[in-house]
Amino acid sequence: MPKNLTTDVLVIGAGPAGSMTAKWAAKRGAKVLLLEKRQEIGSPVRCGEGMSKEWLTEVGITPGRWINVEVEGARIYSPSEKVFEINEKHAGNEVGYVVERDGFDKQLAIDAGNAGAELLLKTAATGVLKEHGKVVGVTAKEFGESFEIRAPITIAADGFESQVGRWAGIPTNLAMRDMDTCLQYRMTNVDCDVRYCDFYLGKVAPGGYVWVFPKAEGLANVGIGVQVSQVTSPADARTYLDRWIAKHPGYAKGRKIDVVGGGVSISKPLPKTVDDGIMLVGDAARMIDPLTGGGIANGCIAGKICGEVAAEAALGGTPTKEFLQKYETGWRARLEEKLYRNWLAKEKLVSLSDATFDKVVDALSGVKLEKLNVHNILKAVHEKYPEVTKEFEAFL
Ligand SMILES: Cc1cc2nc3c(=O)[nH]c(=O)nc-3n(C[C@H](O)[C@H](O)[C@H](O)COP(=O)(O)OP(=O)(O)OC[C@H]3O[C@@H](n4cnc5c(N)ncnc54)[C@H](O)[C@@H]3O)c2cc1C
Repeated sequence: MPKNLTTDVLVIGAGPAGSMTAKWAAKRGAKVLLLEKRQEIGSPVRCGEGMSKEWLTEVGITPGRWINVEVEGARIYSPSEKVFEINEKHAGNEVGYVVERDGFDKQLAIDAGNAGAELLLKTAATGVLKEHGKVVGVTAKEFGESFEIRAPITIAADGFESQVGRWAGIPTNLAMRDMDTCLQYRMTNVDCDVRYCDFYLGKVAPGGYVWVFPKAEGLANVGIGVQVSQVTSPADARTYLDRWIAKHPGYAKGRKIDVVGGGVSISKPLPKTVDDGIMLVGDAARMIDPLTGGGIANGCIAGKICGEVAAEAALGGTPTKEFLQKYETGWRARLEEKLYRNWLAKEKLVSLSDATFDKVVDALSGVKLEKLNVHNILKAVHEKYPEVTKEFEAFL
């Protein structure tokens, strides 16, 4: 089949950010082509499958059969396993639903298709086309055959290992300290509690945490993220996870039925996500929450803004970086403050000793905070361990 193609908006990558971008660009009247290098949307899954839910309405997602479990909240465990419970509304962007991620991604691609976007599966972008310094599309390969796709607007939604932005000349490189390496087992016959997503902090997972996200009674995603600069090799993630499982009888008796690995960025947001003819969205734009490692919500929220601006630029005929600032400003207004705040919190947390983690969680356990914010947390910690709050002065 391959032939040279043209479209208004070209989206590379049919993950949540790409499908959401494609849907909103199509809804706003643009002709949209969505490229996905894999043969099946959402598969294989590389995700803990936890997501918050308050943002779904904002981007037009209707909860569907892809929901496995609706949790009440999160439990945060300190190194000596003191525990602090947080209501689902305040627990960050991985807590609310535990989902069937491939079903979720497929639903978003269906929504994009229903809005009018065309999907090309098993088709990889292999380079960007540039004319007079502007991106005007990509070279692509489908079943080994190369061809060109031209568009006034190209969107890089190609995930954590993104190359499209770099090909276009936008710096997206990550330092080792800005990356977590993750490993997860899906385990059956475990003693998980379907009411909670559980997080275990401290040296059990240097620079990250161990998570248990329940999929059903007795079935859970048990995973770990460790900061690449705090371990000797990415393979250490497995040693840490296996050690944690061995120490927890309710999980040591379990059976692994699936294993996934992958990377997440824990960096500050990129300083620049647009240039002439191109915008970056989702993991490709390093929009993952640096504190939690969750990126589905942010990718979708930015994807809606990206799609709307892309349609406007393509149909109005002004795909310049000046026009595309509308996207840059829009997603930053919605997400950037929290991303920075959480980056700062993450930088602090990775430097804490296990003894300090224990004190913080101990001070919070059993305390009913009216509102979960930094001030109230520090107040509660200060009442019990005044010496600890000195470490957090930067947050006040
Ligand atoms: C182990 C692990 C656990 C995680 N757990 C959670 C969690 O519980 N909750 C949460 O919110 N987030 C989680 N994340 C992060 C989350 O998975 C990502 O933030 C999310 O997938 C980002 O969506 P995206 O659309 O930007 O990128 P992706 O979902 O990665 O989609 C990118 C798509 O682009 C395609 N692609 C790449 N290159 C090309 C190319 N050249 N041509 C065509 N197509 C291309 C890929 O095949 C892929 O389908 C986890 C990540 C990992 C690794």
